[in-house]
Amino acid sequence: MPDLRFACTQCGRCCHHHNLPLTLHEAIGWLEDGGDVQVFCEAAPWPMEPPPDDLRAAHRRRRSFAARSGACPLRVTVLLVGVIAGACRHLRADMRCGIYARRPMVCRIYPAELNPFLALDPSGKACPSEAWTQGAPLIAGGRLVDADTLALVERRRQADHDDAPLKQALCRLLGIEVTALAEEGFVVYAPARGPLLAALRVARDASPEQLAEPTQWRLLTASIDSLAALHALGARFVDAPRADDPFRLVAVTGKAAAAPA
Ligand code: SF4
Ligand code: SF4
Repeated sequence: MPDLRFACTQCGRCCHHHNLPLTLHEAIGWLEDGGDVQVFCEAAPWPMEPPPDDLRAAHRRRRSFAARSGACPLRVTVLLVGVIAGACRHLRADMRCGIYARRPMVCRIYPAELNPFLALDPSGKACPSEAWTQGAPLIAGGRLVDADTLALVERRRQADHDDAPLKQALCRLLGIEVTALAEEGFVVYAPARGPLLAALRVARDASPEQLAEPTQWRLLTASIDSLAALHALGARFVDAPRADDPFRLVAVTGKAAAAPA
């Protein structure tokens, strides 16, 4: 990855058609402001604890909760995604953010990556070319070096860790129990704003006993290989998705634009 400088030109392009992964507290605020939030679910089979030097597994573990599908242990990662169709409802006519002081962390981190295993690729970002030729160093020697962005990324990763058990409580409250497999895609639920906001508030205030109770999940996969392997581990599956299911499967190919991790 080449060294990069960056200075935001305030063009506002990243505030259009850009789904925002929100913390639980941010999701409550987003809904209170009249925005829409969807729930993205993915899971990794976790038959045994990976070795400590498996950094990808450690990253997944930190932002997920332990659950089961039948007899098969899982780590389930749930994302709360603020959906922006067209221009963000907070974007003003002068391309400034109308909630600048309380905008979500991911808006402050952009265009840097939250996922430590994703290299920042300017061609995949909305920023104009001139944004990358001025300003302070952002990437040097393959690493994020901007101190403010680094601190934000670490705060956000900590929030993802702290939110994981609350999201398990949220899924239980909403009856969310189907997940896609990691690397294949996400199962996406779009609960109505009122019930989702109410459930988020209850989950935020859940007791340790409520948070400790594990959940059971069904897996949705189009992969014959995954079906066979996980069937052997005793997993449960969605047999045949129906038109009236409260979820849809969004397949991931390469980098998931809808759900930056
Ligand atoms: S909250 Fe503000 S910074 Fe974030 S997408 Fe909306 S207008 Fe842009
Ligand atoms: S697209 Fe890039 S340059 Fe434009 S407002 Fe967003 S962060 Fe700034």
